[in-house]
Amino acid sequence: MAALDALRRDPAATGLFLDFDGTLSPIVAVAADARALQGTGELLTALGERYAVVAVVSGRPLAFLDAHLPPAVERHGLYGLEAVVDGVPAVHPEADAWRGVIDDVDASARTDGPAGLDVEHKGLSLTLHYRRQPHLADAAQRWAAAAAARSGLQLRPAKMSLELHPPVDVDKGSIVEARAAGLSAVAYIGDDAGDLPAFAALDRLTARGVHTLKVAVRTPDASAAVLDGADLQVDGPAGVLALLRQLL
Ligand SMILES: [Mg+2]
Repeated sequence: MAALDALRRDPAATGLFLDFDGTLSPIVAVAADARALQGTGELLTALGERYAVVAVVSGRPLAFLDAHLPPAVERHGLYGLEAVVDGVPAVHPEADAWRGVIDDVDASARTDGPAGLDVEHKGLSLTLHYRRQPHLADAAQRWAAAAAARSGLQLRPAKMSLELHPPVDVDKGSIVEARAAGLSAVAYIGDDAGDLPAFAALDRLTARGVHTLKVAVRTPDASAAVLDGADLQVDGPAGVLALLRQLL
């Protein structure tokens, strides 16, 4: 595939960045049940031996990524608030101070939030899922907006969910841009609104002369903005694996 040539040309100066949910794992009703497709870990490990950077950048907590990806794979959790790079774990220093606020809003969501909402405490952030109760979307949005205003947390919409984050200036885009320093080619693969900052980062890299490839994953509820903004579309996590195999 010609679109991949710029990535394959110089793997030692190329970075591959990937979302997890909907990209490496099929979307499932219960977030905790998500698993990467069989063979994903081995493939990422093999790519990591050839490419300068192979990293999963996810809204998931690091603990989830640790449990579901091989240790050799670079991983960034909670949209970059926590990470393991070259085997070394790190937490964003500004985010750490917000743990108590997250605990308070979590407790409040469970007692006063819309009934039926799935509240996921992620340590340094909080996610309100309405995938199992789609009719709660508006009520969840109103509750989360009020909670954000009250607590100082930042509200970020995600797929069938709302994220409440410490107001720390880090997202998938800032992570990709930082880790892409010095690289001559960079690809990002994602499906969700949370991946748009990473696509924007690739646009900035393109302006600086870096070869970039924005790949959107077609899933039943992929973000239209991600699909429209991509250079290339693939079909579901199976399509992602096929593309990764071509990069090996
Ligand atoms: Mg996703």
